[in-house]
Amino acid sequence: MTVRHDHWIDGKPAVPALGGYLPLRDPATRRAGDDVAAGSSHDVERAVAAAVAAQPAWARQPTLERSRILHRIADAIEAHAEEFAVLERSCTGKVETQLATEVAMSAAYFRYYAGVLPAFHGRTVDQGAGTLTYTRLEPFGVVGVITPWNLPLNQACRALAPALAAGNAVVAKPSEHTPLSTLFLARLASAAGLPDGVLDVVSGTGADAGTPLAAHPDVRRVAFTGSVPVGRHLAAVAADRLIPLTLELGGKSPLVVFADADLDRAVAAAVSALASNAGQVCSATTRLLVEESVHDEVVARIAERAERLVPGTDFGPMITEAQYDKVLDHFAKAGAEGAVPVCGGGAFDDGPAAQGQYIRPTVYARVEPDLGIAREEVFGPVLVTQPFTGEAEALALANDTPYGLVAHVWSGDTARGLRLAEGIEAGQISVNGGPLTIETPFGGFKQSGYGREKGFEALHEYTQAKTVSVGLSS
Ligand code: NAD
Repeated sequence: MTVRHDHWIDGKPAVPALGGYLPLRDPATRRAGDDVAAGSSHDVERAVAAAVAAQPAWARQPTLERSRILHRIADAIEAHAEEFAVLERSCTGKVETQLATEVAMSAAYFRYYAGVLPAFHGRTVDQGAGTLTYTRLEPFGVVGVITPWNLPLNQACRALAPALAAGNAVVAKPSEHTPLSTLFLARLASAAGLPDGVLDVVSGTGADAGTPLAAHPDVRRVAFTGSVPVGRHLAAVAADRLIPLTLELGGKSPLVVFADADLDRAVAAAVSALASNAGQVCSATTRLLVEESVHDEVVARIAERAERLVPGTDFGPMITEAQYDKVLDHFAKAGAEGAVPVCGGGAFDDGPAAQGQYIRPTVYARVEPDLGIAREEVFGPVLVTQPFTGEAEALALANDTPYGLVAHVWSGDTARGLRLAEGIEAGQISVNGGPLTIETPFGGFKQSGYGREKGFEALHEYTQAKTVSVGLSS
């Protein structure tokens, strides 16, 4: 029986004002799933009104009280991990290990911001005798959070936890393809003690619910994760309203491997970029730049392991039908431009994986840097490789992209790795597997967007500094 999922507004389910519902679908089987409320500007209006009413009292709560409630939300996510996994799997087809990682990390966002919030505060500015000057870090009010379908719960929590910690109320608009985990999170957050209206969720399409949210006069800030074209559109909406916006957009991130690197670990990192969420990760390192003397050996090892990856166990399907078509389109264009894959290069057309939107892990080797497949974000299990000779060429190739989200460098010479880290234009650089986690600020250079999520930096994104200066002389 098809279940209908409503919006979550003011601490309770809300039937869509226009009465419509959108169908969900399991990409692992292409079978129909539940239905979800089709949001409209009327629903956005109700959600923003609830958030506006609830926000001042939430911001006035003692910091330790907000922290306590965030800890309780983290507890609730952990306690309901299996239900989250079931909901998320039903519309993404993700594999078990991927789901477990994402749900654990979602809880960890709330845990982290609950933990650091009491240590987050303004500063005093010493201007000399007879003055007292200090800053307060105040919330914006209502924040709109618009998220995509690739890591639905995780990306929602990445924005929600710091935004709520800082004393904002949030209206979230998850992807119309994967809204169930965000709706369930809001329900659990209410049960965990988050006051009604502080977190509201309106499901629906970007045009019908997303744009009205960003354009709403009471929304004071927007956080968007998704594609470059929609990011550009929302940046225009925000510019018109003169409100700040965080944009987490795509990437075509390099994985640079020098001949003196630990090749076992570098190969494992490349295979992981193919398999993790089937490459549907904005920070996936999909351009493999390998020093010429080891290039062919590294590519052969990756291809051999890629061919052994099992669909449904090691990696999942393309989450939307449009994304599945888009990846196949990239293959067709690459073929027309003369590129021949070393492995993969198509969908699974037999066996159980043919039932779902599974794409074969694919490697294109020695790709000319100006081909579409080398420049455009594919957002699937696809790597392109390019050989280089020497550090200068490695750096030039790494930066030869309109994007700048992350880069990974592998070298036996750590100083060389650090020189690359200094020269690469990207928001996060990992040298020899250095961890990039919730504690480390994340965000783009160039077309990958602006603003920072994660770390203390995200708390600064969701607050505005106010200076108070007092003259003490009589
Ligand atoms: P998308 O930009 O179409 O959708 C993302 C979100 O924006 C969804 O909630 C969608 O409903 C909403 N949206 C769409 N059109 C809108 C509009 N006109 N106004 C307001 N909201 C709108 O992206 P997608 O196709 O769902 O995701 C795939 C792309 O997103 C990938 O190509 C990838 O580059 C990018 N992405 C980036 C990150 C990141 O963290 N940087 C994460 C995931 C996806």
